[in-house]
Amino acid sequence: MKYKNSIVAIGALTLFLSCATNPFTGNKTLALVPNSQLFPTAFAQYDEFLTENKVIRNTKDADMVKRVGQKIAVAAERWLDANGYQGYLKDYQWEYTLVDDKTVNAWCMPGGKIVVYSGILPVAGDEAGLAAIMGHEVAHALANHGQQRMSAGMLQQLGAVAGNVVIKDQETLNLFNQAYGVGSQVGVMLPFSRSHESQADEIGLYLMAIAGYEPMEAANLWRRMSAQSGGGAPPEFLSTHPANETRIKNIEAHADKARSEARKFGVTTFKT
Ligand SMILES: [Zn+2]
Repeated sequence: MKYKNSIVAIGALTLFLSCATNPFTGNKTLALVPNSQLFPTAFAQYDEFLTENKVIRNTKDADMVKRVGQKIAVAAERWLDANGYQGYLKDYQWEYTLVDDKTVNAWCMPGGKIVVYSGILPVAGDEAGLAAIMGHEVAHALANHGQQRMSAGMLQQLGAVAGNVVIKDQETLNLFNQAYGVGSQVGVMLPFSRSHESQADEIGLYLMAIAGYEPMEAANLWRRMSAQSGGGAPPEFLSTHPANETRIKNIEAHADKARSEARKFGVTTFKT
C-alpha cells in the first residue's frame, strides 16, 4: 500500500513537472532538474574537463571543429525560430573544443558545451563526417536526453519522499555525474537507450542538412565507425553508439526528409 502511494505521488509529480513539450522530439520531456540548475553544473564540469585535458587551439582542425559546431548551432536556432520557439536556446553557451586525445569520442553537454577528441577526426574523415558526429551529439542535448536520464535517476532515489522536489546543488551534481558518467572518468558518456539514439540520429540529420551538409554522409560515417571495431576493442564512441545495419538503414531512410527540410531554409547544395 505504501509502495502504491509513492507511485501515485511520483506519477502526480511527474505529470505536474513534465508539462513542457520538447520542440525537437514532440515528446513531453521529463525534466525534474531545471536548466537553471543543470546548466551551471554542466558548465562547471566542462571547465574542469578543460583544465584536465590538452585543448588544441588555432590549428586547422580546431578551426574546423569550431566552424562546423557554429553551423550546427545556427541550424538549430534557425529551425527553432521558424517553428515558433524563438529564444528557446537563450541559456545555451555554445563552445566547440578540440582536445588532444587519441580516444575516438565526442560529446555535447546540456547548454551547448561540445568536446571533440582528436582521435575521432580520422573516422570523421572530413567536414561532413564531423558535422554528422556533432549534429548527433548536439541532438542528444537538444532533445534533453541526459536530463531525462537525470530525472529518472532522481525519481528512483526520491521514492516515497517524492513530495520534496527542491534538490540541492550537490544532489544535482550527483545526478549529473550518474547520468553522464562523469564521476570517475570526466566526459565519458554512458550509453543512451536505443530510442534516444535513433532520435538523435534523426534530429542530427536535420541539423546537418540545414547546416549545409549532405545527410547521407552520416550513413558513411557510421560505416567507417563500424569498420573501426574490427580487431581490437571498439572505440569509446562506438561502445556508447553501436553502429549496426539498422542504424545505417534508418539514417538513409531519413536523408531525403532532412534535405527537404533544409530546402525550406534556402539550402540547396549539400557539402559531401
Ligand atoms: Zn548518441
